[in-house]
Amino acid sequence: MADGRFAPSPSGDLHLGNLRTALLAWLFARSTGSRFRLRFDDLDRVRPGAAQRQRDDLAALGIDWDPPVWRQSERASAYADAITDLADRGATYECYCTRREIQQAPSAPHAPPGAYPGTCRNLSAGRRAELQADGRRPALRLRATVDEFTVIDDLRGRYTGSVDDLVLRRGDGVVAYNLAVVVDDAAQRIEQVVRGGDLLASTPRQAYLASVLGLPPLRYAHVPLVLNADGRRLAKRDGAVTLADRRARGQSPAEVRRALSHSLDLPATDTIEQLLTAFDPDKLPRSPWRYTDARTTLTPRLT
Ligand code: GLU
Repeated sequence: MADGRFAPSPSGDLHLGNLRTALLAWLFARSTGSRFRLRFDDLDRVRPGAAQRQRDDLAALGIDWDPPVWRQSERASAYADAITDLADRGATYECYCTRREIQQAPSAPHAPPGAYPGTCRNLSAGRRAELQADGRRPALRLRATVDEFTVIDDLRGRYTGSVDDLVLRRGDGVVAYNLAVVVDDAAQRIEQVVRGGDLLASTPRQAYLASVLGLPPLRYAHVPLVLNADGRRLAKRDGAVTLADRRARGQSPAEVRRALSHSLDLPATDTIEQLLTAFDPDKLPRSPWRYTDARTTLTPRLT
């Protein structure tokens, strides 16, 4: 048993890559009789009506979830508590750097590309006051004491990645995704995180932050992405990639689900429940699914 979740950002319609990840997350949880949660990561990039359409699309595929549905926009006090906890322990600092300053700063020795070089780690109170007087609003960063961390991924094995002084709260006051996801997964008692492979690189940071907050470690399964004909991550511009697009082409949600099952080397069953017995994480394809032609690739090959 390992309770799971799907946590989309309601920034638009889910595309086939997102739906495939949702299907897998559901399969991982439900095939072991575990709870499955739906949470909207709606701190940022929200498009009105998108959350409802995402719910409808998941339901149309047969994906169900255990209520209540959470929204990160309703969780401000939990994030504030976590930040206070870290700040009280001296594990945070204010960062006044602009994005450009970070890009232009020489990187710290041995630091991976893109890691925050620690410019504001030891600012004096006087310097902070000057920067504030300049009208700069600081972000809050974690004072990390490691520079890498290892996680266990059920599809990829052990994965070690870099950890830097990640942002906990942005200068505009918005809580960072990395903090929110860690706090929420623990509060929802999630045990396994199944999500797109593009998030694997941020996972050591999140797992490290969870450990600093004294939260239990999670298991992960980062799902290989769906790629377009050029080998890039599938996006809306790649054609008929949402359930609404597929419906407009005469394809029912059940047919889309069968096509997604097919892409996962699973049988094309009549109901989603019939997939549960066939599901075996060890037999999942480990390479990306290349979605080359909307018409042919998505025609389910019925068994
Ligand atoms: N909200 C994130 C996204 O849609 C996923 C977060 C997660 O699964 O941890 O990319």
